[in-house]
Amino acid sequence: MAEVIRLTGVSRSFPTDPPVFALSDVSLRVQQGDYLAIVGPSGSGKSTLLNTLGLLDKPTKGTYALDGIETTTLSDRARTRLRGGRIGFVFQSFHLLQHRSVVENVMLAEIYGAHPRRGRRERALAALEQVGMGHRVEFLPGRLSGGERQRTAIARALLGGPSLLLCDEPTGNLDTGNTAAVLDLFDGLREQGLTILVITHDDEVSSRAKRRLRIVDGLLHEDS
Ligand code: ADP
Ligand code: MG
Repeated sequence: MAEVIRLTGVSRSFPTDPPVFALSDVSLRVQQGDYLAIVGPSGSGKSTLLNTLGLLDKPTKGTYALDGIETTTLSDRARTRLRGGRIGFVFQSFHLLQHRSVVENVMLAEIYGAHPRRGRRERALAALEQVGMGHRVEFLPGRLSGGERQRTAIARALLGGPSLLLCDEPTGNLDTGNTAAVLDLFDGLREQGLTILVITHDDEVSSRAKRRLRIVDGLLHEDS
């Protein structure tokens, strides 16, 4: 099995006074198709870890290989390209543009990569089919339920065929029924070989993952 994530001795400190040690000597290996949930109290380093894995932030110490590519020595430009091609992000507050249709919102995911314009709409429509939103492609986000908004955001994250889906409290704004639908969707995506990492406070969400990890004061532990 291919290794998607290899973090080795990763620390991230912020040079405040006094300094904050948001991640301390974190090591983590994730195989293709893994499904991980990360839980931890507020301020424990969850977002810092997600930003690090998503190449939005850089460790102050240690190494991070994504799909076998060492990222800490890459230029900013190369990191951005790698992020655009291999990582999809899903957030608690869907971040959809209110005056753009569902399909336009998904198409916007390709703006930042080196993707050909040709076929963009078709790729967006295929991603929307994949998340069960094929019947809502011309809707504006304001007319969608919370679950439909999040499925649109997931379709946007899937555009470009990422190897890793990083989710920060993806069900935090959803009721029980919509949470269940999103979790079913994650199960299906994982069966198709996608690697999923979810930060969550919700036991229902973490219990669906294959691996559960806990972060406290920047230290990461795996529950066995
Ligand atoms: P969580 O997502 O688990 O709530 P974060 O990863 O956001 O935690 O933050 C971990 C710690 O790092 C917190 O103490 C937070 O205040 C601190 N921190 C996060 N970002 C910065 C920053 N840019 N500058 C200084 N401290 C930060
Ligand atoms: Mg956070």
